[in-house]
Amino acid sequence: MTITIPYGRQDITQADIDAVVDVLKSDFLTQGPAVENFERAVAEYSKATHAVAMNSATSALHIACLALGLGQGDWLWTTPITFVASANCGLYCGARVDFVDIDPVTTNISVEALEAKLKSASANGVLPKVIVVVHLSGTPCSMKEIHRLAGQYGVRIIEDASHAIGGRYLGEPIGNCEFSDITVFSFHPVKIITSAEGGMALTNDAGLAKSMMQLRSHGISRDPADMTHTPDGPWYYQQLSLGYNYRLTDVQAALGLSQLDRIDQYVAARHRIAAEYDRLLRDLPLILPKSNEDGYSGLHLYVVRLDPTRTNRSRLDVFNALRDGGIGVNLHYIPVHLQPYYRSMGFSEGDFPHAEDYYDRAITIPLYPGLTAENIDHVVSSMRQALTG
Ligand SMILES: *Cc1c(COP(=O)(O)O)cnc(C)c1O
Repeated sequence: MTITIPYGRQDITQADIDAVVDVLKSDFLTQGPAVENFERAVAEYSKATHAVAMNSATSALHIACLALGLGQGDWLWTTPITFVASANCGLYCGARVDFVDIDPVTTNISVEALEAKLKSASANGVLPKVIVVVHLSGTPCSMKEIHRLAGQYGVRIIEDASHAIGGRYLGEPIGNCEFSDITVFSFHPVKIITSAEGGMALTNDAGLAKSMMQLRSHGISRDPADMTHTPDGPWYYQQLSLGYNYRLTDVQAALGLSQLDRIDQYVAARHRIAAEYDRLLRDLPLILPKSNEDGYSGLHLYVVRLDPTRTNRSRLDVFNALRDGGIGVNLHYIPVHLQPYYRSMGFSEGDFPHAEDYYDRAITIPLYPGLTAENIDHVVSSMRQALTG
């Protein structure tokens, strides 16, 4: 059966279309005034001082690592339950990557495991330079505790907030970087708001912002203050580092900026749907997502886990039954350390047991603002049938 209810879906309005068409009729197509407006609006919304737009969150993670000085001989740590991009950014910089197991309750990086691993890494003189924490499904990590450990061990923190724009931690917006050096958002179509492809890095550090702006565009500066000598003429620029072409276009930024107008509505709609799922699924043999009492989730995903103490149905059978019913269930994520590319670096089964146990039992069910009451009923009754029928 073809999928009639995907796990995530963008919402595009006439206002979005008009905003994009306006850019197409203007003088700028690639990085121009719309990119700056989008950056300013996201920085303001997130209460961060600086925002640097890029063509994806993957690019933003790479540039964030470079700006923090990550390179050969360094380590980057992240959680195994994330999209591969949260780890690959370390490899792009020539650093080595390791993982910290998840907390089985929150499914985010475990603070206890992190503390223990930092302690032994410190004793062995192999502390990581950068830790990428991921607000899985939008649920904020325990940033206060992670920030305290980062300070204690001299480690830099990047928040991969690809799932979390529109959420809050301790009452303040995710992205304000109060407890991190840099926060990264993704604007891929399945995420909370979209620019088709796109990402952004936020920081309160002017030096990091400047270096990220340079790195996203070939490492080039046109600011005489940065140059090694006075400009040769009005045409002059200097390449000061090895950068990339990671620019966002004005066409994409106009879409993102228009979507940002509706972000609070989108997240509220996600919360309404999640509350329905919480209510309708609670008697089934499932572990439902737990909200973080310190935070308000962006709710990018709704992930249920089969509870092995209450059912012996196989996850594969349940998954297939839902797919057969036209429901685009998905799995977020396959533990990164079990990917063949990472296994070739020496990782294997058993390295991160909580992550692997999560992977054995998780199913992502559809969640997006356009999901109707009938869609929800269909998902719930199909799940009930698959688990108890
Ligand atoms: C989507 C996602 C990314 C990558 O985002 P792109 O904008 O597609 O590059 C990185 N990390 C996480 C956790 C994601 O969900």
